[in-house]
Amino acid sequence: MTTDLTAKRPVRVRFAPSPTGPLHIGGVRTCLYNYLFARQHGGQLIFRIEDTDTQRFVPGAEEYILEAFRWLGIGFDEGVSFGGDKGPYRQSERRDIYRRYVRQLIDEGKAYYAFDTPEELNRKREEVPNFQYDASTRMQMRNSLTLPREEVERLIQDGTQYTVRFLIEPGEDVHVDDIIRGDVVINSSILDDKVLYKSADDLPTYHLANIVDDHLMEVSHVIRGEEWLPSAPLHVLLYRAFGWQDTMPRFAHLPLLLKPDGKGKLSKRDGDKFGFPVFPLLWRDPATGNISRGYREDGYLPQAVVNFLALLGWNPGTDEELLSMEELISQFRLEKCSKNGAKFDFVKGWWFNREYLLRQTDRELAPSFQAVLREQGIEATEEQAAEVIGLMKTKVIEYPDPQNPAAMKKRNVSFAGDLWPLCDFFFRAPQTFDREDKFIRKNWTETSAREMTALADRLEQLADFSAEAQKQAIDPWVKAEALKPWNAWRICLVGKGQGPDMYALAAFLGREETVRRMRFAVEMLG
Ligand code: GLU
Repeated sequence: MTTDLTAKRPVRVRFAPSPTGPLHIGGVRTCLYNYLFARQHGGQLIFRIEDTDTQRFVPGAEEYILEAFRWLGIGFDEGVSFGGDKGPYRQSERRDIYRRYVRQLIDEGKAYYAFDTPEELNRKREEVPNFQYDASTRMQMRNSLTLPREEVERLIQDGTQYTVRFLIEPGEDVHVDDIIRGDVVINSSILDDKVLYKSADDLPTYHLANIVDDHLMEVSHVIRGEEWLPSAPLHVLLYRAFGWQDTMPRFAHLPLLLKPDGKGKLSKRDGDKFGFPVFPLLWRDPATGNISRGYREDGYLPQAVVNFLALLGWNPGTDEELLSMEELISQFRLEKCSKNGAKFDFVKGWWFNREYLLRQTDRELAPSFQAVLREQGIEATEEQAAEVIGLMKTKVIEYPDPQNPAAMKKRNVSFAGDLWPLCDFFFRAPQTFDREDKFIRKNWTETSAREMTALADRLEQLADFSAEAQKQAIDPWVKAEALKPWNAWRICLVGKGQGPDMYALAAFLGREETVRRMRFAVEMLG
């Protein structure tokens, strides 16, 4: 079914981030789609670092990106830190290669030197409305098309800074054959003579480096975000200028990720406003020290993040939503991706996390809950953590509505962190009892102190304190005496009207702690 996409050549795709900061969640989805496509066709996924913009380089970004994909279980076959025979895979280490290709275009008259200083360019912009460096203006500028040859040579020899610009012929319809969008046509007259190389840092710009590398690394498909679509006609023209049109990769520009309300592009601000991360991992900005939250640190499971992202812009065409990586690899269809932006439904993200949470055993979940407890200064064993998880993971929590923090909303427990406010009493005895509390007012009656003392006396006698043994001993007594001790007992052990089955809770606390809490409550409430 998809063979037509790959008939001509082996599948080789790349993820090519610029290390300018933490990787945005949209970039994670782009890489995931590349990964699914590569695996599905038995191809390779290359990790290339596009660091030709030295101004925007941020230390630590490359390591961050690699760490994020390790966490998500998205593996590369080749590239920075993975090796391969088409390297180096970091663009700043490929200067010699780019110099050769820039030369080639100049020698063939397809690119030219431009000596215009930033001041000269600014002056021109003020003089000419909507100035663009193109066929209509290039002959008024200081470049190798207008200056005598000797002067060009002299300027270069003298070390004058220059750029190399791509000479674009106007008036041609340029076709981009996009797997998702079909035939995208742009007239070359709207394109400017893009800068391909800057002598000041002896580096090419993104466009040239990107095309040269895709060619040399034998990339078969360029799968990337929609924000790169406007560059695609230029890229098509560059392939042609080099004579590489026959091995030009096929393009697929993925839909944008939109704000939760669908109005505009998803931004970090949306995440701050609604309380969800837009980065895979926590990021500490090395310049400002500012912290941005991450999916990993917020307690998401990597499988849940992968599944959630996979369905933002594509769906299997069935009602099935829970898909493992293997299922995604076999079901994903690049040509079925949507053209329209995908709303970032973070509540759906919670849902995915809950589903994956419930698919784990209590034991598997224990370490993340232990970490939550540790933050509260509580050291629990794995066994204790697992037991509490088992009792509480299907409960509902309340959380402040991000739209209106005064109001509370409800949702299912979806994260290990959700468990803490529900589970504090497992680890901390109630210290005080709020007599105004509705549950306490209603359920702590005249007879409660006497009944709780009697119950505590009985519990104290039990040799076996398991929930079943308690039940066997206490239920008949409760029945014979026609008592209803449950809510008062809950007040003793929990301090409020919450929590699991009382026998299960008492068994977790143990005989001594259970009886201690009961006698304390009797003393306090009388
Ligand atoms: N370096 C570009 C980025 O940061 C790559 C775009 C592309 O895939 O061509 O996304």
